[in-house]
Amino acid sequence: MSRLFSCKYQNLKPYTPGEQPKEKALIKLNTNESPFPPTERAVAMATAAAKNLQLYSDPECRALTEAVADLLGVRYENVLMTNGSDEILNFAFMAYCDDSHPAVFADITYGFYPVFAECNRVPYRTIPLQEDFSLDIRNYFHAEGTIFIANPNAPTGIALTPREIEQILCHNPDSVVVVDEAYVDFGAESCVPLIEKYDNLLVTQTFSKSRSLAGGRLGFGVGSSRLIADLNAVKYSTNPYNVNSMTAAAGLGMLADEEQTRERCRRIAENRSYTEAALRELGFRATDSKANFVFVKHPQLPQDTLYRCLREKGILIRRFDVPRIADYSRITVGNEEQMHALVRACREILEEKT
Ligand SMILES: *Cc1c(COP(=O)(O)O)cnc(C)c1O
Repeated sequence: MSRLFSCKYQNLKPYTPGEQPKEKALIKLNTNESPFPPTERAVAMATAAAKNLQLYSDPECRALTEAVADLLGVRYENVLMTNGSDEILNFAFMAYCDDSHPAVFADITYGFYPVFAECNRVPYRTIPLQEDFSLDIRNYFHAEGTIFIANPNAPTGIALTPREIEQILCHNPDSVVVVDEAYVDFGAESCVPLIEKYDNLLVTQTFSKSRSLAGGRLGFGVGSSRLIADLNAVKYSTNPYNVNSMTAAAGLGMLADEEQTRERCRRIAENRSYTEAALRELGFRATDSKANFVFVKHPQLPQDTLYRCLREKGILIRRFDVPRIADYSRITVGNEEQMHALVRACREILEEKT
């Protein structure tokens, strides 16, 4: 840091993104991207949009907002498109957290939440998950703060039902509850229908995981028109052109191919079942993941050994230097070939090391 960096950021510990390796040959199972490229239509639409890059993008992101509203069965006023869902999450920390509304979230969840809190200089409180990493909703009944719940949770993959989220909403009528549905398309049930009934609910989703646009940076928030108006006020005070026109076009292309996205998500869910079963057979313990990753540990094989040996075999996974989960590995569910390679490599490593 320079001596000029504002002291307001002296405690900032920036988020560490998963590694994006230079070696192309690596099987990349560390950042929960889609193994499938964007559809041809999405690529063609993004390419066509490139021809008009001399113009600013549409600050309202109108066509895409309409398409997302259609897809979800909500109104235009209920949707705000953002630069990845990380941006809408940051907007929510800006709009709804302060000294009298601390952020509240689980001790084991998306690692960006404490960073957003710190960066916006708002206090936060964590609520421990149960021993088995499940979330006891009763611990959130009088949270007295702005609640952030990743559902399915990351990196455990465990999901709550909308009915359970609804109970949290009922018990916190004067607080915003943010449900981060980055992984919802792989097998959990969405809380979007609840926005009609609860004006304190903000649901966030992304095109990064299920819609093959991680590099395009596209996400969105869904909530009551008043919440969306708040978040628009923040957006127009920071970055009115937050979604670039090539990405907006690619997003529209992916939505036109929504059937294909559904089919791809079904395939990922199948590959997840296969991977969990195969790894359990090798002695791994796995959580009940509803996401596009598995969360596993092996009682006889230390995490760092697994990580290093897989890397030597050309497979990259994610680990966490976080209490309670330091023994666990988060492994993205990719295509069939990648999962067979993973299971084969794990079998070889276990034969060698145990
Ligand atoms: C990946 C992820 C996000 C955000 O990803 P974007 O690429 O910014 O849309 C948000 N929350 C969780 C839990 C995630 O895993």
